[in-house]
Amino acid sequence: MTIHIDQFTCRADNFGVLIHDDQSGETALIDAPEESSILEAVARTGWKPTVILTTHHHIDHVEANLSLKQKFNLKIIGPKAEADKIPGIDEQVKEGDVIKFGGEDIRVIETPGHTAGHISFYLPSSGVAFTADTLFALGCGRLFEAPPPVMYNSLKKLAALPRETVVYCGHEYTLSNAKFALTIDPENPKLKERAKEIEKLRGEGKATLPTTIGEELDTNPFLRWADPAIRKHLGMESATDAEVFAEIRKRKDNF
Ligand code: ZN
Ligand code: FE
Repeated sequence: MTIHIDQFTCRADNFGVLIHDDQSGETALIDAPEESSILEAVARTGWKPTVILTTHHHIDHVEANLSLKQKFNLKIIGPKAEADKIPGIDEQVKEGDVIKFGGEDIRVIETPGHTAGHISFYLPSSGVAFTADTLFALGCGRLFEAPPPVMYNSLKKLAALPRETVVYCGHEYTLSNAKFALTIDPENPKLKERAKEIEKLRGEGKATLPTTIGEELDTNPFLRWADPAIRKHLGMESATDAEVFAEIRKRKDNF
């Protein structure tokens, strides 16, 4: 693996992520939540961003687009489906597109639900995915611009990535997600164990991210629509997977 990844906190609970390729010297920034924190990370790492990969149009993901573009003369790549809302966008990408980054391919996966055009980025040779506000550790994004079946489909695509895939997300929401997850899947030993670890990490002020697809499949209720214990707990033994997902999302909205 020739790429290096640096994750840092932005705003109250957003993450910024820099990906650096040694050979080419290229650096990608996954979303641009806040200029000051990003400049600090650039100074600390010495990695000058050459491209911003934008996942969706929310202000906490694009606020620093224009100022960083001016400072670093970088390129901004973002979702075609909401390109009109991405400040400074240079290149529009859609499902299946491949972005060349050093020696790596970055694949675009359309993951609508949180917003209508949200995309995720997947680096198959490094085994890393950036899912922003679609998939969180023990959670998923709120459905602002699409109905539950749309998000269900997006999560299904991410759930199909290799279990060992390392996943970076847009926010540090894991502690409150864990509290909710335990109300849906209270007897899951792996979830109970993970909830304890999360409490410890947050108590020490440490990030709970990145996670992995395997860990999420084992403990994230928003990917566990097929789990018999959860279905029984919800009284939804004969519902479709998408219906189980919609019910869990509804309960989280009211949690
Ligand atoms: Zn968002
Ligand atoms: Fe966000």
